[in-house]
Amino acid sequence: MQAMILRQLCDIAENPRPLEPADLPVPEPAANELLVKVLTCGVCHTELDEIEGRTPPSLLPVVLGHQVVGTVVASGRDVAAHAIGDRVGIAWIYSACGACDFCLTGDENLCKEFKATGRDANGGYAEYMTVPEGFAYGIPDALTDAEAAPLLCAGAIGYRSLRLAKLEDGQNLGLTGFGASAHLVLKLAIHQYPKSRCFVFARSEREREFALDLGAVWAGDTEAESPERLHAIIDTTPVWKPVVEALKNLESGGRLVINAIRKEDSDKDYLLKLDYPTHLWDEKEIKSVANVARRDASEFLALAAELGIRPETQEFALLDANQALLELKTGKIRGAKVLRIR
Ligand SMILES: [Zn+2]
Ligand SMILES: [Zn+2]
Repeated sequence: MQAMILRQLCDIAENPRPLEPADLPVPEPAANELLVKVLTCGVCHTELDEIEGRTPPSLLPVVLGHQVVGTVVASGRDVAAHAIGDRVGIAWIYSACGACDFCLTGDENLCKEFKATGRDANGGYAEYMTVPEGFAYGIPDALTDAEAAPLLCAGAIGYRSLRLAKLEDGQNLGLTGFGASAHLVLKLAIHQYPKSRCFVFARSEREREFALDLGAVWAGDTEAESPERLHAIIDTTPVWKPVVEALKNLESGGRLVINAIRKEDSDKDYLLKLDYPTHLWDEKEIKSVANVARRDASEFLALAAELGIRPETQEFALLDANQALLELKTGKIRGAKVLRIR
C-alpha cells in the first residue's frame, strides 16, 4: 500500500519535505483490531510537533495522521463492535490499558499506557491502518468523509473542554480566545445550555463581532471586565495573559478550563500579576484539558451531525502531504486541511 512516512525528525524550515512516499505491506489486524481502508485523514498542527520533535514519535519510521475516516474491510476474530463495510473514525487516542482507574472511569486519555495514533502506532497518512475496535467510532451519515476528519481532533477536544467546565444550564460561560475551536464550543454551548449566557473575550474587533453574530450576549477585549461574573471560562489561547485576566471575572467557586496543548513562554511574566484575593480566592479552580477520551469523540460526532456543524475543508492528495503540512505551518489559506486517500 501507498503511505507517506516520517523516517527522522527535522526542522521543517530546513527540510520542507519531511515525509517520503513508501510502499508498505497492508497491516494485518490482531484479534481485537479492525483493518480500515482510509478514505480521508485530517492534517493537524500536532504532526508539525511530531516532525520537529516537540512530541516525538516512539517508533520510526512512522505513518502520521490521527483524524482518520475509513471503511472497515477486515477484522480480527474477537471483534464485535463494527461490521465489514462500516464507516468509522479514528482520533488521537489509539489505545489505553483498559484496566487502570482512569480507563475504568472513562478518562482513558489520562492512562499511563496511552498510545497516540500516528505517533505510537501507524496512522492515516496511508491507504490502510489497523486500530483496536474500541477506539473506532461510527461516523453519522450526515457528515461527509472530508467534514468528519477535522471534527475528530479540534472538535472533540472543544467538546471535552465544555464537559470539564461542568456548567449547569443557566450559568454564565466565558470564552477567552475566539479561534476555530472556540466557535465550535460557542455553538455547542448554546445548544447544550439553552438558558446560559455566553461572554467572549477576544483581541480583534472582527472576532468580537463574529462572536456576537454567533449568539454571544457580550464580547470584549482580553483584559475587559465582564458585566456579570462567570461560572466557567474556557481559554483557547497559547499565552498567559488571558489566564490571569479571566480569573478575575470568575464567580466564586468558578472554574477556568485551559484548552491548550502548551503555553508559550513569551509572556510568562504576566503570571506575576496574579493577585491571590482577586484571582484565586473564593475557591476558584483551574483545570487543563488533555486531548480526548473515546466518549468525547463519539458524542461530539453525533452532536456535530445533529447541529449541522460542517467545517470548511481543503483537500490534498496523499502524495501532497508535505505541501499540506507546509501550508499549515505558514498559515496559508483557511479551512481544515484533509488528505483525500480515496
Ligand atoms: Zn490533532
Ligand atoms: Zn489505563
